[in-house]
Amino acid sequence: MRVIIIGAGSAGLMFSLILSHFFPSCNIKIIRDPNTKVIGVGESTTQPFLGFLSEYLGIDTNDFIINVKPVDKYGIYFEFGKKDFHFTFDTAFDYAYFDESLPVGFKFEGGNNGDTPYSILMNEKSVKGHSGAFHIDNQLFLKYLEKIAVERGIQFVSDKINSIQRKGDDIVSLNKKYHADYFIDCSGFKPVLSEEKFHSYKETLVNDRALFFRTKTKHEIRPYTKSSTMNSGWLWEIDHSQGYTGNGYVYSSKYITDDDALTEVQNKLRIKIQDYRIIPFKTGRLEKHWVGNVVTIGNADGFVEPLEATSLMVIFQLSKDVVDIIKYGDKKGDLIERYNKQTNQYYDNIRDFILIHFVFNDKLDTKYWKDYKKRWNKISKDSIVYDILNYYLNNDTHIKFLSHVFGTTNPYGLEGWYSILRGLIPSETDRKKWSVILKKYTYDHR
Ligand SMILES: Cc1cc2nc3c(=O)[nH]c(=O)nc-3n(C[C@H](O)[C@H](O)[C@H](O)COP(=O)(O)OP(=O)(O)OC[C@H]3O[C@@H](n4cnc5c(N)ncnc54)[C@H](O)[C@@H]3O)c2cc1C
Repeated sequence: MRVIIIGAGSAGLMFSLILSHFFPSCNIKIIRDPNTKVIGVGESTTQPFLGFLSEYLGIDTNDFIINVKPVDKYGIYFEFGKKDFHFTFDTAFDYAYFDESLPVGFKFEGGNNGDTPYSILMNEKSVKGHSGAFHIDNQLFLKYLEKIAVERGIQFVSDKINSIQRKGDDIVSLNKKYHADYFIDCSGFKPVLSEEKFHSYKETLVNDRALFFRTKTKHEIRPYTKSSTMNSGWLWEIDHSQGYTGNGYVYSSKYITDDDALTEVQNKLRIKIQDYRIIPFKTGRLEKHWVGNVVTIGNADGFVEPLEATSLMVIFQLSKDVVDIIKYGDKKGDLIERYNKQTNQYYDNIRDFILIHFVFNDKLDTKYWKDYKKRWNKISKDSIVYDILNYYLNNDTHIKFLSHVFGTTNPYGLEGWYSILRGLIPSETDRKKWSVILKKYTYDHR
């Protein structure tokens, strides 16, 4: 079996390593355009990351930690809602019943808050093990993956793909010289191989730019990503063990200009930013992710929003599904159709989860945030998301024990939903208030 992958960003490299791990006899070639750089962001991960690295990519996790020197991430500190809160990756709610006094936060032994200094956590790590999620230096991570790919015999070719020969849905060759059984498009936000329609999320998730910059870390490393509310979006702060903090103001060009975004973030952090990059992006997904012998993965395939740092997790999961189908074959002939349908649901569920972060954030009442309240009507009334919200807002019981009724609707599970809802809407009074607001928008705007 011959597989050609276009692109050597995290999507192309991760796909190649999953394929080589589960299908060692496969002949894998990565083609990358020497003049198109990788996007260079993707510094924060979700909790399954470490398990996926070993299970899906076959990477020794100690080797990864020694070489990439990541920072353990225990969750996200949200300066969102009336009162800041920690979105925990731990199972703070799984075994607890509803209790207004239950603290929301990272659940470490001896305390349920996110204030534990990193140095203490690191000392305890020998006992506890890693959280599973990390802050990673993007360049180091890609270098590390590439080194393993080379060791596994994966070939790298520097070339720009500028001509595609097709027969029906299948690609026959690229640049009239590259032939394979499958072609995997990991070429970033401007997909090179896919001709599929793009299903945009821009009506729901309005952000389309990020102002990205680094600062020297002057405080103790925070073992969590910090996300703060800004006038027209939000700001991430990600501490690294290499002595710098990666920062990004994610905003909507409909509400603020690049220059004003720069001024706002400088004022907030009380610094002068010398070097920064503006990264334009689009949120949405392809209508079909696998057509003929072409599969699209990574930013070329779909991107939701960096707020919950989901992309690497999505790449892991979708790549593993595709590799399984390639390896074992689509005997009944319906797996590809199922893959396309499931993948759409997967992306849409993440979109809905991200949407509630924005809809319920009442930290500021700028036009950007006021408009977000109205986007509740973008959630389909017959979706499970709608059910969960409706239940949470109108009942005073703990939704966790109803998990068998709601089912787990996306990678964050009910635990994730509950952490965010408890953080943004902590009290019964708030739930009642939101219930009234949402009824207004849901029923008026539908
Ligand atoms: C603002 C922002 C913040 C983000 N933060 C996170 C985060 O915290 N966590 C997370 O998981 N994800 C995050 N992401 C998503 C992250 O970008 C992706 O997880 C990841 O980097 C995937 O990139 P990629 O490999 O698809 O594409 P790229 O990194 O863009 O790689 C594209 C590759 O395709 C090649 N290529 C392009 N055109 C051609 C051609 N014609 N011929 C040959 N080769 C070609 C290029 O040379 C390059 O190698 C963020 C994204 C954005 C926009």
